[in-house]
Amino acid sequence: MKILVLNCGSSSIKFQLWDMLKKESLAVGIAEKVGLKGSFVKLENSKGQKVKFEGEILDHQIGIEYILGILTSKDYGLLKSLAEIEAVGHRVAHGGESFDKSAFVDDFVLEQIEKCIELAPLHNPANLRGIIAMKNLIPDIKQVAVFDTAFHQTMPEYSYMYAIPYSLYNKYKIRRYGFHGTSHSYIAKRACDILKVDYNKQKIVTAHLGNGASMCAIRDGKSLDTSMGFTPVEGLIMGTRTGDLDIGVVNYIMDKEELPLSSINTVFNKQSGMLGITGVSSDMREIQNAAKNEGNKRAQLGLDMYSYRIKKYIGAYAAALGGIDILIFAGGIGENSPVIRKAVCKDFEYLGLKIDDSKNDNLRGEEMVISADDSKIKVLVVPTNEELVIAEDTHSIVSKLN
Ligand code: AMP
Repeated sequence: MKILVLNCGSSSIKFQLWDMLKKESLAVGIAEKVGLKGSFVKLENSKGQKVKFEGEILDHQIGIEYILGILTSKDYGLLKSLAEIEAVGHRVAHGGESFDKSAFVDDFVLEQIEKCIELAPLHNPANLRGIIAMKNLIPDIKQVAVFDTAFHQTMPEYSYMYAIPYSLYNKYKIRRYGFHGTSHSYIAKRACDILKVDYNKQKIVTAHLGNGASMCAIRDGKSLDTSMGFTPVEGLIMGTRTGDLDIGVVNYIMDKEELPLSSINTVFNKQSGMLGITGVSSDMREIQNAAKNEGNKRAQLGLDMYSYRIKKYIGAYAAALGGIDILIFAGGIGENSPVIRKAVCKDFEYLGLKIDDSKNDNLRGEEMVISADDSKIKVLVVPTNEELVIAEDTHSIVSKLN
């Protein structure tokens, strides 16, 4: 049976087709510039065959129709008919306090996702559009929502509450939710499989370092704390997001620059982070290149700040967990940047953390233990695979329905 995984953004639809018997990805692709000029769909199948179709994609429904058309086209041999799709799994950004695991999409679940639009105004509307479009195109298709926030619902109250008037929590549910939950839980479980240890008995720190970045403290298989908060702007320094920031700065900039709320949001979400500090780029490769090959001091400052913030979180999570057994790197930067991994792990010998440079220095995009044999804390690189988790959750939920 095949599972289609959809990740609908405001102007894009990422998709992946999975064969669950073989646990194999059959095709991966994206519809880009949905609702904009110059839209197209790209697809690559498991044999490396690539195709690109240009055409007007006015909305998500038309985009998904295009995608289904390509998947069932005789030219690529992926699906004989749409009936081969057992179910569709959707990545959904925010499940609020309603979901601590993935859920079969029925009217109640749809309503809850809609309610969470207030909490994720940039993401949930597109996720919802994808689900509704799919329902319009194949009315009896089974759909599952996999929430970025669900894994973190195990955080205890003292970890997820902000010290603001409690009435504001009651009224608006303002609290830490955390994101990247699918990735944190996948890489933590995978690392335990690799190390052959019991996931439910470990103290784990995960670092998902991509354009968006977050860390998570996992104790005995449960998220205890995570760096992203009410929104994905809190925590680590990211490509264009500030991460942790004194809220006094917000008021001060708004006052001095005479900025309205909408513009200050843009400053902290789109113009800050590595882009804002370095003035070079939000892309880590370009920043590393500017620091190393051009002697760009602001690029180096950005790199120093970036790894220092991660170090502080490791220290904080070591305290929260009462020690660390396993530290895991994932995401575009965590998987591919030996320089960042080395800078983060430097001077942690007092905690019993030592990486093996010969393992770390050339490692890109592969699973590997990079700690020294005598390191008390095991350090791993685990390429994340959120689509596999979405496909597996979807398969497991719909299998129980039959
Ligand atoms: P993601 O959002 O997970 O796709 O990660 C994107 C980030 O990974 C960007 O900042 C890229 O520059 C970074 N990245 C990808 N490959 C490398 C690499 N070889 N070295 C350093 N950073 C990388």
